[in-house]
Amino acid sequence: MRYLVSPGRPGPLADDVTWTVPAEWLFLPLACDNPACACDQVFRGIASGHATTTALVADVHTDEDAMVSLTRRAVARDTGLTLEQVPVSEALEAVRLMSGAAYLRTLGDLVRVADVDMEDEEV
Ligand SMILES: [Zn+2]
Repeated sequence: MRYLVSPGRPGPLADDVTWTVPAEWLFLPLACDNPACACDQVFRGIASGHATTTALVADVHTDEDAMVSLTRRAVARDTGLTLEQVPVSEALEAVRLMSGAAYLRTLGDLVRVADVDMEDEEV
């Protein structure tokens, strides 16, 4: 499936950071309510848990069900919630936002959280 993975280096903006492992699969973390916090502007690595402000469009060798499962485990690990407290429906929605953004773009394109953010979606 086409998805978003960690770039090998930080993006072009001065405040871009990439602490994830190159090419690792990413997920959208749960954001907190603190407006001074930048956690709503980063993806996190499914494997490392580390943050990156940019992602790359790539083809990854997995399917949606596996990505949902991996995303739930990563959210649970990073939040301290149990796996049962991370709803499959929310993980599926987040995975579809990321794969949807990836499918609209070309392999290797750079993507930011704002490009996939559900809050900007028209209902
Ligand atoms: Zn935060």
